[in-house]
Amino acid sequence: MSQIADNYHELISELPAHVILVAVSKTKTDNEIMELYNCGHRIFGESKAQELVPKYEALPKDIQWHMIGHLQSNKVKYIAPFVKLIHSVDSLKLLKTINKEALKNDRVIDCLLQVYIADEGTKFGLDLSEAMDIFESEEFRKMKNIRIRGLMGMATFTDDEQKIRKEFRQLRFDFNTVKKKYFREDDNFNQRSMGMSDDWAIAIGEGSTMVRVGSSLFGKREV
Ligand SMILES: *Cc1c(COP(=O)(O)O)cnc(C)c1O
Repeated sequence: MSQIADNYHELISELPAHVILVAVSKTKTDNEIMELYNCGHRIFGESKAQELVPKYEALPKDIQWHMIGHLQSNKVKYIAPFVKLIHSVDSLKLLKTINKEALKNDRVIDCLLQVYIADEGTKFGLDLSEAMDIFESEEFRKMKNIRIRGLMGMATFTDDEQKIRKEFRQLRFDFNTVKKKYFREDDNFNQRSMGMSDDWAIAIGEGSTMVRVGSSLFGKREV
């Protein structure tokens, strides 16, 4: 068996059955992705639209592609025909663009709002009050071609497990707040995307439903 297949089987043996694995394939080749595909895996995540589109075109059409990285409004049109879930919605403007492009493609696109839980200045995302402003807005209520499935968050890059745990717990708390206030009746609002190669076990302990794992499946990235 290949190293990638080995890594995959080890990881899925440790993941609880209810947790969805998004295999993060950014910078990885079509052949590497196919090694995982041939193990039966179908959910892949990319962080750049310009990398996602050629992979979508080259690879089997039953792959479910997730957009996990910061997304500029002017790139939405390229991925709107096929993207399965956008994890990284961080503004009303972006959400409006996704809605518009989804309508053009006669689709409803699933989205997560990215909520800011880390204390590093470099990470994208909304704070809870900004997310609530979106849900309260008239414009949001009029959007028919997006469906909000939950929240996504990234913890601070640190060895301090307690800190990471606290940040994921915060995301869980924010999720509950939003759920109660705006999605109480909506069973589709049910996803918490948190956890990467180094912290997925902590994230699952704090209620993650979706982990985004790259390097521990495919090996370290060059860049
Ligand atoms: C790259 C990336 C990941 C995966 O990171 P690994 O540490 O390689 O598992 C997860 N989420 C986002 C948003 C990423 O950009």
